[in-house]
Amino acid sequence: MKALALGRVIPLVEVSVADPAKQSFHGYDVTTAESPLRDARSRPLRDLRISVTDRCNFRCIYCMPKEVFGKDYAFLPRHELLSFEEIERVARVFVGLGVEKIRLSGGEPLLRKDLEHLVARLATLRTPQGADVDLTLTTNGSLLSRKARALRDAGMKRITISLDAIDEAVFQRMNGVGFPAAVVLEGIDAALRVGLAPVKVNMVVKRGVNDTQILPMAAHFRGTGVEVRFIEFMDVGASNGWNMESVVPSSEVLDIINPSFPLIAIRRKNPSDTSVRYRYADGDGSIGVISSVTQPFCGGCTRLRLSSDGRLYTCLFASRGLDIRNPIRSGLSDESLRGLVADLWTKRADRYSEGRGENSVAHGQSKVEMSFIGG
Ligand code: SAM
Ligand code: SF4
Ligand code: SF4
Repeated sequence: MKALALGRVIPLVEVSVADPAKQSFHGYDVTTAESPLRDARSRPLRDLRISVTDRCNFRCIYCMPKEVFGKDYAFLPRHELLSFEEIERVARVFVGLGVEKIRLSGGEPLLRKDLEHLVARLATLRTPQGADVDLTLTTNGSLLSRKARALRDAGMKRITISLDAIDEAVFQRMNGVGFPAAVVLEGIDAALRVGLAPVKVNMVVKRGVNDTQILPMAAHFRGTGVEVRFIEFMDVGASNGWNMESVVPSSEVLDIINPSFPLIAIRRKNPSDTSVRYRYADGDGSIGVISSVTQPFCGGCTRLRLSSDGRLYTCLFASRGLDIRNPIRSGLSDESLRGLVADLWTKRADRYSEGRGENSVAHGQSKVEMSFIGG
């Protein structure tokens, strides 16, 4: 198979709002948000992914390869990170604008000290209709045994854990630091024990590295109530040496599982769902496939990402984000923040995955790293 040309530059939206609080965007009154904000492709703003740190204790070969993220790599100094107070304030504004789901991510979010304190703050948020916000977290699971109860007690309801193999040798090669799969499995058990539900497991499949683990992973989690989601290796960032040959299409994943454990497709509930789900014909649970490369889902993409240093990214493949940290630290009001976000979202036209290969990366531009803005 021929490698696809990488990338397309996502232009930075120029924000020039004289008095944002007084503006209406595409007929949307940002001061009395009752219907969701819609982007230039009519996609509502529903999901906010918040990266709480750019650091990680793993060096997964598809995300933060140790050759690039070595000892000398310059991570953000602490004062550049948004504080929990700042994150809560931003999240509150977003929920007021129509966000219903918040996912904490990273880097490795459980490395951020006292993360449960942030969870407790976010768990108090309510939508304009008075509903709870769907609050969740993606973690590599390395610290979960210790943290699961505190997270649940703080108001976290469900959780996603990344695990790329059951086999120790394969997993330890994949995470780049020789971290044992057994410890992540203990973390998954702890999450189940304290009642975080549902528990989902993300497995990024890279051809020639962990594709032998597709069936063992399905077999291991069948009947446990944990749903494994098989993710196509994506060309995020500029570090992971992506090429199309390394991608195992979801269709192949299904062909591997189906003969052993017959699958029946589940109708998609929500157009913004990233995974397509299948249940085992014998009733022993379900799996999901996330086909970001072979069957992109930009048409239903309702996600905005906030990096740990306070930049907003309208697409996982963006090259630049809009800084809101400095304006906030200079006294930006909530109304003006709403105006900035509304301006950014209403101009958003991103559809990188659908156009993958059509465009090439412009000189001097590089895409943001996944570990910087979360999954
Ligand atoms: N450290 C946490 C973890 O690994 O779960 C959270 C951050 S991580 C960036 C979020 C998700 O992105 C993980 O499930 C990870 O497997 C996925 N991911 C990272 N790089 C990827 C890539 N190149 N292609 C597909 N998924 C990727
Ligand atoms: Fe760390 Fe998660 Fe990236 Fe792996 S996928 S290097 S655990 S941020
Ligand atoms: Fe959304 Fe960008 Fe991914 Fe498309 S490529 S689904 S617009 S984040």
